[in-house]
Amino acid sequence: MSITKHDWNKEEIISIYNKPLMDLLYEAATIHREHHDPNVVQVSTLLSIKTGGCSEDCGYCPQAARYDTDVEGNDLMSVSQVKAQALRAKSNGSSRVCMGAAWRNVKDGSEFDQVLEMVRTVNKLDMEVCCTLGMITENQAKRLAEAGLYAYNHNLDTSEEYYKQVISTRGFEDRLQTIENVRKTNITVCSGGIIGMGESIEDRAGMLVALSTLNPQPESVPINALVAVEGTPLEDEKPVEIWEMIRMVATTRIIMPETQVRLSAGRMNMSREGQAMCFFAGANSIFAGDKLLTTPNPDVNDDMKMFEMLGLLPQKPFIKITQPISVEASDSQFAPLGEKPKWSRPGHTIERNVEASEKGK
Ligand code: SF4
Repeated sequence: MSITKHDWNKEEIISIYNKPLMDLLYEAATIHREHHDPNVVQVSTLLSIKTGGCSEDCGYCPQAARYDTDVEGNDLMSVSQVKAQALRAKSNGSSRVCMGAAWRNVKDGSEFDQVLEMVRTVNKLDMEVCCTLGMITENQAKRLAEAGLYAYNHNLDTSEEYYKQVISTRGFEDRLQTIENVRKTNITVCSGGIIGMGESIEDRAGMLVALSTLNPQPESVPINALVAVEGTPLEDEKPVEIWEMIRMVATTRIIMPETQVRLSAGRMNMSREGQAMCFFAGANSIFAGDKLLTTPNPDVNDDMKMFEMLGLLPQKPFIKITQPISVEASDSQFAPLGEKPKWSRPGHTIERNVEASEKGK
C-alpha cells in the first residue's frame, strides 16, 4: 500500500506528469486500486443557489458582474427549492450536493442563515452536503459544521505565481486562509483547480504542490478543464486536450492517493473513451446535471448509460467519514461575529481582465 507523502516538490510532480503515458496510467491505476474501488464513481450534483452578479474578477468566470456574458443572475434560492432539487438529484443517483453561491465571501445575516438551513435540510436527506460560498472566517466555518456541512469547496485554481494573472481581487494566500479556517472544524476540504487557462505545466505542478503538501491533504480535489465563455478575459483560450486531462488526473491520483479526484468541468468536450481513461487513471467522481453552475454539462441519462457501459456503480454517501449531525439553529453555540476577510493585494490589476471589464460596460 502506497503511503501518503506530504513533501512533494515541483520537479518530482513534473517528472510524473511527463512520464510515458502507459507508465503513468499503470502507476496511477495501481495506486487507485490500492485505495479505492475502481468500479465505483461518485455522482455529485452542483446547484447554483445564487447565480451571477459577483464582485470578483476571476478571469474564467461568467458570473463576475464586470464581464458581459449571457449569465442571468438569480437571487438566493429558497430552502424548499434546494430540497426539491436535492431530492431529484438523489433519485438520479447523486450522493452529494454541492451548493454554490457567487459571493466574494460569506456575510453574516439572513442569507447565510438561509444557507445554514439548506445545509441542515440536505444533510437530513442523507446526502453529503458541500458548499462553495467564497471566503469564510473560522466562526462561519464552525457554524457550517454545526449545521451538518460535510465538505467546503474552495479551489486554489492554479499555481501561486499564475494566480496573479487570473484574479486580482484576492490573493492565493486568502484562499489558503479559508482552507485553514475550514480545517479548524470537522468539515472535509474540497480544493482543486482549472487547467487550460494559459498556464504552463510548471503551474499545474505548482498547484499540485500546494494541495499535496497540505497536511492532511484535501479529501476531495476537483480537476476542471476551462470552459471558455464569451465575454470573459479567457474567452479565446484553446480547449484542453483529453491527454492533458488524463495526465492531470493520473498525477493527482499518484500524489494524493486517498483523495476523491473529481472529473469536473469540461466533460462536454470529452468522449466516453476519454472519460473512461480518466476513471482508469483515478478519477472517482463526476458532476451530474445538464449545467455545472452556468456552463453546459452532459445529461444525467447519458452519464448513466456510460456507467452501464463501463460497469461502474454510483458511490454511496459517507463511505470514508461518517455523516455529521445537524444542530438546529435554535440550539446553536455560535453567534455571528460580523467579521470581514482581509484583502491581501489591493490595487493589483490584470490587463486582460481590465479590457474585458471595459468591453462589459
Ligand atoms: S469564480 Fe466565484 S468568486 Fe470568482 S467571479 Fe465567479 S462567482 Fe465570483
